[in-house]
Amino acid sequence: MNRYSIFSLLRNAVNYHQDWQRAWRSPDPKRAYDVVIVGGGGHGLATAYYLASECGIRNVAVVEKGWLGGGNTGRNTTIVRSNYLYDESAGIYEHALKLWEGLSQELNYNVMFSPRGLLHLAHNVHDMQEIGRRGSAIRLNGIDSEFVSPTQVKKMVPFINLDCRYPVMGALLQRRGGTARHDAVAWGYARSADALGVDIIQNCEVTGFRIENNTVTGVDTSRGMIGAEKVGCVVAGHCGVLAGMAGFRLPVESVPLQALVSEPVKPILDCVVMSGSVHAYISQSDKGELVIGAGSDLYNSYSQRGSFDIIEETVGPVVELYPIFSRMKMLRQWGGIVDVTVDRSPILGKTPVNNLFFNCGWGTGGFKATPGSGNVFAHSIARGEIHPIAEPFSIDRFNTGALIDEGAAAAVAH
Ligand SMILES: Cc1cc2nc3c(=O)[nH]c(=O)nc-3n(C[C@H](O)[C@H](O)[C@H](O)COP(=O)(O)OP(=O)(O)OC[C@H]3O[C@@H](n4cnc5c(N)ncnc54)[C@H](O)[C@@H]3O)c2cc1C
Repeated sequence: MNRYSIFSLLRNAVNYHQDWQRAWRSPDPKRAYDVVIVGGGGHGLATAYYLASECGIRNVAVVEKGWLGGGNTGRNTTIVRSNYLYDESAGIYEHALKLWEGLSQELNYNVMFSPRGLLHLAHNVHDMQEIGRRGSAIRLNGIDSEFVSPTQVKKMVPFINLDCRYPVMGALLQRRGGTARHDAVAWGYARSADALGVDIIQNCEVTGFRIENNTVTGVDTSRGMIGAEKVGCVVAGHCGVLAGMAGFRLPVESVPLQALVSEPVKPILDCVVMSGSVHAYISQSDKGELVIGAGSDLYNSYSQRGSFDIIEETVGPVVELYPIFSRMKMLRQWGGIVDVTVDRSPILGKTPVNNLFFNCGWGTGGFKATPGSGNVFAHSIARGEIHPIAEPFSIDRFNTGALIDEGAAAAVAH
C-alpha cells in the first residue's frame, strides 16, 4: 500500500496525479474464507480491518450488495460522542471515541475527525433533570461532560435564540465530541483492510445462508456460493431480512431516518448542537453546508426516503432556535433505514445459529461507534467468545430483561 503523505502528494503532482494506486482491489470471490462479513458499511469494514490487523485472520471477505458506505454510513450526520447514560454504553462508546482520536494516523487516511465540542440543549424541566442525571453518570464513568448555562451556550453559539418557543435552560457539553467524515471512514478502513489481504467484494448480495447441523457453512450470493467458517452480519436496517434468511427473528424495527443539508455558507457554527426534545440537530460541514438531522419516521419502511412532514417538523424548530438560518436554501434531503431496538442499544454477538454473529440495532446512532463496534466484534468473531465490552449487548437481554435503556441519550426522537 502506498503511504499517503505530503511527499507522495508532491511525487504524484509531478505526474498530474495519473499514477495513484487504487485504494482497494476488486477481486472475484474465492470459494471459501475463514470469515465472511456481510455488509460493507463502516462497521463491517472496521470488523474486517481489526480481524486482519489485531486478530491475525486475513482470509476474510467483505460482501456488499451495493457500494462501500452506500448504506447508513454514507447517509448519517456524522456526529461522534460518548455521552451515554449507562456503564455498558459508556464502555463501548468511549472505546470507540478513543479509537477515533488516533484513527487517521492508524489508517494513514484522513477521516477528518473533528472534536469541535457538542452541546445537548435542555428546553424544559424534564430535559434539565435528564441531562443532570446523565451528566453525573457520564462523569462517574470518567468521561468528560460539563453542564453549561444559557449564557455559556450563547457564547458558543452567538446567534442562538435562547428565549423562544423552545427556551434554552441549559446544556450538556462534551468537548471531545464532534464530527468525522463518513465516507472517509469507510474508505480508510477498506484501504487498510485490503492492504492486509481482505477481499472486498461489491455488487454482491447475500441471498441466503448455508446451514448444516445448526452451524453456518457459507452464504449464497448473487455471485455464487461462498463458503465460510464464520459469518458476521453487519447490515444495519436490513438485519431483520438477513435474520429471516437464517431462520430467526430479531427484536428490531426498521424505519427511515432523514437528514438534510443547506447551501454552503462561510463558517458560522464551530460546534455541534443537538436538541433531542425538538427533534433537530445541526453542525456545519467543512464545505460550509449546515448538516441537519431529523427525527425518524413513525412507520416501518425500507424506502430510504422518509416523509415530508418530518422535514417540516425539523426545519420549524431550527428556524425558531436559529432565526438567522430562516432564509437559507436547503440543497439536498435523503433517508437511511435504521434498525431500532426497544432500548435504543445495539445487538452484538452470537445468534441461535453456530458461528453466525450479528452486529446490528445501532439505530439512529451507530456512526460514532464504528471503530469500537468493529474492534470488539472482530475479537468476538475471532475468539468465538464475546468481547467483555460487547457482552451486555447480547440478544439474550430481551429474554432476561437486562435492557440498556438509552432512549434519552439517543437524542433522536423515535
Ligand atoms: C439520516 C441519518 C443520520 C444519522 N446520524 C448519525 C449521527 O449523527 N451519528 C451517529 O453516530 N449515527 C448516525 N446515524 C446512524 C448511523 O449512520 C448507523 O448506525 C451506522 O452508520 C451503521 O453502520 P453500519 O456499517 O452498521 O451500516 P450501513 O452503513 O448501513 O452498512 C450496511 C451495509 O449492508 C449492506 N447490505 C444490506 N443487505 C445486504 C445483503 N443482503 N448482502 C450484502 N450486503 C447487504 C448495505 O448495502 C449496506 O452498505 C444516522 C443514520 C441516518 C440514516
